[in-house]
This record gives sequence, C-alpha cells and structure tokens, in this order.
Amino acid sequence: DNKPANNFLHAIIADDLAAGRVTEVVTRFPPEPNGYLHVGHAKSICLNFGLAEAFNGRCNLRFDDTNPAKESPEFVASIQEDVRWLGFEWHDEVRYASSYFQQLYDWAQHLVREGNAYVCDLNADQAREYRGTLTEPGVNSPYRDRSVEENLDLLERMKAGEFEDGSRVLRAKIDMASPNMNMRDPILYRIRKIEHHQTGNDWCIYPTYDFAHGQEDAIEGITHSICTLEFEDHRPLYNWLLDHLPVPSRPRQYEFGRLNLNYTVTSKRKLKQLVDEGVVDGWDDPRMPTISGLRRRGYTARSLRKFCDMIGVTRSDGVVDVAMMEHAIRDDLNENAPRAMCVLRPLKVVLSNYPEDKTEYLSAPCHPSREELGVRELAFTRELYIDAEDFREEANKKFKRLVLGKRVRLRNAYVIEAESVLKDEAGEIVEVQAKVIPNTVGNDPEDGIKAKGVIQWVSATEGRRATVRLYDRLFSHEAPDKGDNDFMALVNPNSLELIEGAWIEAGLVNAQPEQSFQFEREGYFVADRHEHRPEAPVFNMTIGLRDSWNN
Ligand code: ATP
Ligand code: MG
Ligand code: MG
Repeated sequence: DNKPANNFLHAIIADDLAAGRVTEVVTRFPPEPNGYLHVGHAKSICLNFGLAEAFNGRCNLRFDDTNPAKESPEFVASIQEDVRWLGFEWHDEVRYASSYFQQLYDWAQHLVREGNAYVCDLNADQAREYRGTLTEPGVNSPYRDRSVEENLDLLERMKAGEFEDGSRVLRAKIDMASPNMNMRDPILYRIRKIEHHQTGNDWCIYPTYDFAHGQEDAIEGITHSICTLEFEDHRPLYNWLLDHLPVPSRPRQYEFGRLNLNYTVTSKRKLKQLVDEGVVDGWDDPRMPTISGLRRRGYTARSLRKFCDMIGVTRSDGVVDVAMMEHAIRDDLNENAPRAMCVLRPLKVVLSNYPEDKTEYLSAPCHPSREELGVRELAFTRELYIDAEDFREEANKKFKRLVLGKRVRLRNAYVIEAESVLKDEAGEIVEVQAKVIPNTVGNDPEDGIKAKGVIQWVSATEGRRATVRLYDRLFSHEAPDKGDNDFMALVNPNSLELIEGAWIEAGLVNAQPEQSFQFEREGYFVADRHEHRPEAPVFNMTIGLRDSWNN
C-alpha cells in the first residue's frame, strides 16, 4: 500500500471505497479559462488526477466557462497543454460547462416551477442592502413572491434577450435570514449580452459558479468534487441545489488548503496584470509562477509533481517556502542534468607557453556520478576565457581562484599560473597572461606547488557566444499581496539580468530546446524553449547551486 500519509483526501476515498459508498472514483479538474495555470493549479491537478490514478478511477478536464467576459480560446489551449505537460491525461473528451447550458436552464425552470427560484428586479446596490450583513439578517426581496407563471415568463424573456444586462437576475428562494450569506437567495443566472467562445451568441444569460458547479459534477458522475477552502461556505448551497433538482448522480464536495508560496503571487487576475502591464514578457516569462513559465525556466514536470507530493494535502491554508520548490528542481537537475562549462563574464587568458596553432581535445565526464551519461570533448587552446570574478591581481588566502603569480586548476584541464595583466586606458584588466604547467591534466604539478582551486573556462577560439538570462525573484517582498500590500509596487526591479556575451563550450550549441545543464560553479540552466538556436544559443538560469531549504 503506497498510501500517502500527508493527504487526508486519499484516506477519505479509501474509506468510501471500503464502505461501498462509491464503486469507482471520479474526479475532475475544473479551471475557468480566464488565464494561464499557475503553480497552485499544479497542486490541484496533481491531487485530482493523482487520486484518480491511485484508485484506478478517472479524472475529467472540465472548463468552467460560465463567465465569457474574461475567457478565451488561447486559455483553453494553454490549459490543456499544461495539464499534459505535467504528465496527466484526462478521461475521454475535454468537457465544457457551456455544453450543459441547456440542461442547466431546464433545471432553472424546474426550480421555478417548484417555487424554489424567482426573477428579481433589484439592482446591485439594492440587492446588497437587502442581503443584510454577518450580524444582521437580510430582508426578503419585494419580487420574492412572484407567481410561478410570471417567473417562468420573465426567465424565458431574460433568455430571449428582452432585458438589459443587470436589470434582472434569477435567484434561488432559500432563506434571507440564514447565517450563511451564500444561502440568502443566491443568484443563479445573470444577463450578459456577451459572445461566448464556445456557444457564440446562443445565450445571453449565464449561470453563476454556484448554480453550475454541482450540477456539472452530477452530470459527469463526479464522486469527489475537490475544491479549495474558500468554497467551504458554498457547500450548503451545493447540497441544497442537488437536493432540489432531479440530477442523475450525487457528488460530494471536499475542500483542501490552497497552495500559497512566499515571494510569489498565485492569482490569475494578478498574474494577468503583470502580463498586461508589461512587467513580464508574457504568461510564460521564466519569472512567472505559471506552469508554462516554470517550464520555460527549466523546471521539469517531474520536479513539480514531486514538490506537490512533498507539500501534501491538508485542510488548512498555509504559506509554503518557495525554497522548497527550488529544492525539488535542484535535486532533480543535480541527478539528471549533464555538466557543462559556461563563462558568464569572459576575461581573456593567453597561455604564453602554449602553441598558437594547437588544439588539444580533453575529455570530461558529463556527470560526476553517472558514467552512463558519457563524456564530452573540450577544446583546449592558447586563448581561453575565464570568469572575470575568478581573477584578482592580489588577494588573501580565502580567494581560491586565480591570482597574479599563483596557480589555479582549469576544470577538467591543466593547472595554469598567472604571470601578468594587460589593462586598457581606463585601468580595466582586459587580458591575463599565464603559463600552462606541463603534464597537469589529471595530475598535480611535479614541482609540488599546488593549485589553489578549480575554475571553469572555455576556449576563446573554439567556444561560442551565447545569451544567458539570469533571474532573481520576481518580488522582493516575502508576501507581495498580503493584506494591503500593493504587489505591483513590490516587483523586484532586478529580477532579470541579461548577459549577451557569455561564452559556452561548443557542444552546447547543439542542446535541444528545454534541455537542462549544470553550468559548473554557476547553477542550472536550460536552453530556451522558444529562442534557443545553434547559431544564437539562449540559456535561462533555472536555479543556483546553493540550497536554502531545510526541513
Ligand atoms: P485564481 O484565483 O488564480 O483565478 P481560481 O481558483 O479562480 O484561481 P480556477 O480556474 O477556478 O482558478 O481553478 C481551477 C481549480 O484549481 C479549482 O478547483 C481551484 O480550487 C484550484 N486552485 C486554484 N488555485 C489554487 C491554489 N493556489 N492551490 C490549490 N488549488 C488551486
Ligand atoms: Mg475559481
Ligand atoms: Mg478565478
């Protein structure tokens, strides 16, 4: 039994099966196509598809497309791509709430006929006053006692487009004094004369989330309808509607704690604002916590699934340290990413005692502990680049890199010793002159004077230029949208550092888009999914080497 201890829903479903309350587990993932999916949705996807898999059940992908104003086919397409990329496949065809509009309308008429719903003409302000407050009961709408005939007629005319947006709504007739505000005659239908991406102009009234969701679940035979905690107060309404309608099955709603990450916002509306205002370069900008952004950043689907397993599923909301998600990808890439060398801030080194026309091919393992990943060839030449930060004219003993008059080992190659520097008119070092210590590939120098440390390098004549994008957190504040915080004002102005002239070992130009590497001593990088080309390589930094997460 591989029962996860940190998932209370797994235990509930196992009990339901054991007690015979259900014979097959049917779940659904029900996004509204009004934005790209984010890491919070990944948790819901892993949960819903994961439970179906664990119990040999099925999981539907259903677009909860009841609010055409904010929805689009672009979002419908991106959501399917993201779910599949995460490694899940929905049962059967994709579902759309909009394909149930006629059934939902028939059920609305059913409620009216039974005296359980009415057309209300209060405007939004009036309706708010009548609704009361948490401490004050509401007051019945003056339209509450319309006859069934009048209600049926008005509903039909709402549907026919006779009335203006906002002039009338259909409401359930429940209890204006209920302590649960959701039960105070909630709205079931609104007039919205907007074209719908699936149903065109067939409808000008659209059901609310509350009227649609449970009924959709019932139509699809969903057994466990899993949503986030903010819907707990909607559960009585969910059940009331199922109790009062001739639905074909009886789903049950369960709530779990949503994923919140520090230094991150997970709200489609806010992510959309970042895109619309040009703070980031689209929904899949590698700094975005969208699934497509994380993918472009170099996160693997496996690492995101692992992360979702690690955080578990509980009945309370909490804030997860983003360092834990970073740990998951670092761990994955440490094990799976081939090693390579990249010099981000090239400083030329000329090896005075190495022949000008010579190229030596040194072989280096692609991975320190996984021999099966093979070896690669590194071209060693008289002119090399090292990182400017790996050289100093003078330094104390803590600086274990190249210093004038001292030695350093070039990774997978020779020990060299710095002899002199060339400076430009501004006094900047433009070149280091050094000598190769002979016979030091794989050996210590014969004279017993050891190298201080090991640094990366790339042949200046055989290596290639690359664009590398370094990323920092998109928000510099730990809780960018908590309370009164203005998340737009808390965007980190230095979240992207673009390096146009990095130098990479030649083999890297053949990287496949989305292929990941560890650039030794720098971190993990991925060939950009859209822009990387052999003749113009582009790498995105996924994550640095140092792990800041500890449990
Ligand atoms: P947002 O507030 O970002 O728009 P949403 O909940 O409105 O998110 P939906 O498209 O309605 O987005 O969500 C689809 C499913 O994903 C829902 O079942 C929802 O509960 C779940 N979900 C959304 N955000 C999170 C989150 N942060 N953690 C876990 N599940 C989430
Ligand atoms: Mg929602
Ligand atoms: Mg939403």
